[in-house]
Amino acid sequence: MEKVQCVRGTYDLYGAAKRKMKKVVSVGSSVVEKYGFEEIETPIFEFTEVFARNLGDTSDIVTKEMYCFEDKGGESLTLRPEGTAGVVRAFVSNGMQQNLPVKFYYHGPMFRYERPQKGRQRQFTQFGVELLGVETPQADIEVIAMAYEFLEKLGLSGQVTVEINSLGDAESRDAYREKLVAYLKEHYAELSEDSKNRLDKNPLRVLDSKEECDKAVVENAPLYADSLNEASKKFFADVLRGLDLLGIKYRVNNRLVRGLDYYSHTVFELTTDKLGAQGTVLAGGRYNGLVGQMGGGDVAGIGWACGVERLGMLLEEDVSLPRPVAVIPVGDDTYEAALKIAHDLRLAGFAVEQSYSGNMKKRMIKANKANALKAVIIGSDELADGTATIKDLDSGEQKTVALANLIKELQE
Ligand code: ATP
Ligand code: MG
Repeated sequence: MEKVQCVRGTYDLYGAAKRKMKKVVSVGSSVVEKYGFEEIETPIFEFTEVFARNLGDTSDIVTKEMYCFEDKGGESLTLRPEGTAGVVRAFVSNGMQQNLPVKFYYHGPMFRYERPQKGRQRQFTQFGVELLGVETPQADIEVIAMAYEFLEKLGLSGQVTVEINSLGDAESRDAYREKLVAYLKEHYAELSEDSKNRLDKNPLRVLDSKEECDKAVVENAPLYADSLNEASKKFFADVLRGLDLLGIKYRVNNRLVRGLDYYSHTVFELTTDKLGAQGTVLAGGRYNGLVGQMGGGDVAGIGWACGVERLGMLLEEDVSLPRPVAVIPVGDDTYEAALKIAHDLRLAGFAVEQSYSGNMKKRMIKANKANALKAVIIGSDELADGTATIKDLDSGEQKTVALANLIKELQE
């Protein structure tokens, strides 16, 4: 092995960063389970087509960011860059259309070949939800409410803004595309090479460009809102009314489009100003055409995904672990008794730290380092009497208790 280090853009996750990510996932899971979402785990790699065909062949992900490889059988496979395509693929492969709605959540690693920066890795973790089979705005309202409650339970709702927009139905989208293309053609010379290309293939993507020259053009582009037909306007108004009813604050952002092809109607992002350029922590939208595109029929869908690392970075306080009890043998002849006592305490449900070596003083230092709540000190004389000493490591108070009562005493 040449270098003992991980690949650029990947990280070893441990300690406080991992504890925070774990908290993000556990809070997310418990919130979405209340809404009836069940966990699904799909493979980390799929046939390349699952992503290439469905995310849009001019999207950043498909053109630049996918980790594709040929396996030994000659199949073109891709490490998943996002979760929705895989979940929808699973929905179609397993014929889940029979029992709608279907509500799934997932979490796990995603892979994108991007320029690594703070909050932008090549392997990162997403937590996401997908709700399939509900065409009405109720679904949009519910998944946004769920996202909001999730961030609230993480203590982040005050730092986060909900931005929302509507891309309307297919008719509205076509009408908008026409206006947009006419406008972009007037500004053709000012566009980046990428956007000149997009103009033919997928002009909407220009709105999502991160190039400064494109942004300047986009600034004055026609507004989506002006192209929505009546049905789409009503749909969007209903979504916003629902959010008002639930007291969820949002900002309508007419420039929000989202970078993937499959979106229609509602798109939204939850953003923060605390992470610099990587301010989007959660993003999603409605994807009514996606199931059909994969051959699964006319089934509506909506979902969101969040970056678990980005959310973890926003948690200021370390996530505390349950404080253990430290079991401390004094002298070699008490070692076996201590081993057995530690085991019994664990079976009784306590978190137990065994200090593996050292004299009593060293072991006490280790117990404090482990943030132990109490120490159970096993001395040989006491052991002969069938007792042990419990020391409260916060107050320093000590008492001698019968070993038979140890569990009861510690429970208090
Ligand atoms: P960005 O504009 O930051 O590239 P995106 O639109 O590509 O984001 P989505 O595909 O919507 O992101 O993914 C949803 C969430 O996943 C993002 O809001 C972000 O929190 C997280 N995310 C996306 N890409 C990365 C990455 N490379 N590293 C870490 N987190 C990421
Ligand atoms: Mg991106």
